[in-house]
Amino acid sequence: MDVMIRRHGAYVCRSCAQSLPKQLRRAYSATAQPDLYDVVCVGGGPAGLSLLTALRANPVTAHLRVALVDAQDLAKIKSWKLPPYRFSNRCSSLTPSSALFLDQIGAWRHLERDRVQAYQEMQVWDGVTGARIEFDWAPGSGPAAGTTIAYMNENLNLTSGLLKRLEELGGVSMFDNARVEKIAYGEETDEMDLREWPVVHLSGGQQLSARLLVGADGANSPVRSFAGIEAHGWDYNRHGVVATLEMEGEGWGGGHTKIAYQRFLPTGPVAMLPLPGNYSTLVWSTTPSNASLLKSLSAKDLIAMVNAAFRLSPTDLEYMHTQESGQADEYSWRLEHTPFDCQAVPQTVVGVQEGSIASFPLKLRHADTYIAERVALVGDAAHTIHPLAGQGLNQGQGDVQSLAKTIEYAVSHGQDIGVTMSLEPYVSERYAANHVLLGVCDKLHKLYSVGSGPLVPLRSLGLSAVNAMNPLKNFLMNQAAGNGIKVF
Ligand SMILES: Cc1cc2nc3c(=O)[nH]c(=O)nc-3n(C[C@H](O)[C@H](O)[C@H](O)COP(=O)(O)OP(=O)(O)OC[C@H]3O[C@@H](n4cnc5c(N)ncnc54)[C@H](O)[C@@H]3O)c2cc1C
Repeated sequence: MDVMIRRHGAYVCRSCAQSLPKQLRRAYSATAQPDLYDVVCVGGGPAGLSLLTALRANPVTAHLRVALVDAQDLAKIKSWKLPPYRFSNRCSSLTPSSALFLDQIGAWRHLERDRVQAYQEMQVWDGVTGARIEFDWAPGSGPAAGTTIAYMNENLNLTSGLLKRLEELGGVSMFDNARVEKIAYGEETDEMDLREWPVVHLSGGQQLSARLLVGADGANSPVRSFAGIEAHGWDYNRHGVVATLEMEGEGWGGGHTKIAYQRFLPTGPVAMLPLPGNYSTLVWSTTPSNASLLKSLSAKDLIAMVNAAFRLSPTDLEYMHTQESGQADEYSWRLEHTPFDCQAVPQTVVGVQEGSIASFPLKLRHADTYIAERVALVGDAAHTIHPLAGQGLNQGQGDVQSLAKTIEYAVSHGQDIGVTMSLEPYVSERYAANHVLLGVCDKLHKLYSVGSGPLVPLRSLGLSAVNAMNPLKNFLMNQAAGNGIKVF
């Protein structure tokens, strides 16, 4: 696809301009016009990098002139490396359908596969009543990926792998270490009419003009603000505390089966997800004050709190959150008086990797739409979800898959890829699906935030009933594997 430039009052495509007489070509290039691109993607996180990889890997869209803008140092991310016994604290579960998509665009093989951990079982339970649901694929009933429910992976392993794949494909103009200073519409000059084209002004002074501007720029998306698209939602008044943990013994889950655990506490769910070897990653959604306390504790007391979160009662935990220190002793004492099924909880945590504890405020946001004239939003720029279902990044992969398909269709039918008419299929395919998932996770968060009252036995009854119904459980798991609902 080519861009249009103005020549003597008429519009011609840029490749035609290349065949203009030399003097005119010089005049064209000497003017201080923005650089013209078919696609400018702001944001080199998982969503933005996957989109550009999908466009470059597809012969139909590979000729598009594309640019990537990110504030981070992408060369550093591409060469990201950690020793095998250290893991980044930012991990995400990738559903088999996200993994399949990454494979189709040639990125999966660029991930460090020995740092990716598949898991085959999930244990989810109500911290107040103990009602429990177990998910695993009965042999032969799972999707093509076999018995895998999802893959735990460090976000940096993914972005590094995507950057390696993009390097292999080539053809992307990279503007990294570059913040977006301003986005405005272009101007009409003797040469070009860019009045309807977004122009991205970068901190380094460059100006990039986009036939289609993609906002893959996260929850505070400057692209979304430029397009005047409102995003609605609320803050949960909860923080997601993350850390890399070391487990007792050689590994966990028994045999080759790896298990993910999540317990719903009245302050929020606490999840422990398997990483390779005897490591795991923690995602503990809790109040901001609890999160501050957890981050302030010594390693010994933090370990005790995490073990307590899966074993002790919510009342015990509440008390331990009031202590400034000494949780390790408190835990040992309380554990002696607490009966629990040691088969049904994760292995004991024995270590926490230095510097790995951090927390992120949790919120729900949904943009009113994902498209405007010459603008499309993907990933967290379009929606931010509570992490209890581990779906945020997967939703972004679903968006990217759909947008790449929409662009492919527009290119192959000679349409302008930037106009809303061409972009409509993308928003129709993704908006409602994302909205349902945002709603389900929000309701789950609210349902399990209730610590007492008539709702508590009712929700446990619901959980036990679902657990007893294999067809319903298989339905939920199929949804989870295919970018749909996942109960954790
Ligand atoms: C605690 C926690 C646990 C989670 N667990 C899971 C999970 O298990 N599974 C899952 O699927 N999801 C999970 N998520 C969600 C997941 O992390 C996000 O949905 C995902 O990282 C969003 O990717 P993205 O590419 O859309 O945006 P981001 O990763 O936010 O990337 C945005 C990019 O835009 C760039 N950018 C932003 N503004 C500018 C600017 N002005 N100029 C230049 N560049 C800019 C940034 O540098 C960044 O690289 C979790 C989230 C949290 C908080």
